[in-house]
Amino acid sequence: MRRLLDRLRGTMSCGDVLKVIQSYIDGEINATTARRVAAHLEQCDPCADEEYIYGQIKASLARRRHKVDMDVLDQLMSFGERLKTDPNLGD
Ligand SMILES: [Zn+2]
Repeated sequence: MRRLLDRLRGTMSCGDVLKVIQSYIDGEINATTARRVAAHLEQCDPCADEEYIYGQIKASLARRRHKVDMDVLDQLMSFGERLKTDPNLGD
């Protein structure tokens, strides 16, 4: 009965939440679904743990991406330096 009431109110099951948790963290689901996921996470510890873990993975990937960006930036800067010093490049 509780599940039926939950469904009528639009509350998501754990399975539903886990299916969209990555999109939720990436901000790629619509506002209505995001609100339902947030409501579920508030009262469901296992799903909140999943959100935390995915969040950590995303954060570490973001850090790695940031590092790559810095490497690219370094390459661009040394390329810029070469343009300034190499007479065969640029003018
Ligand atoms: Zn849950």
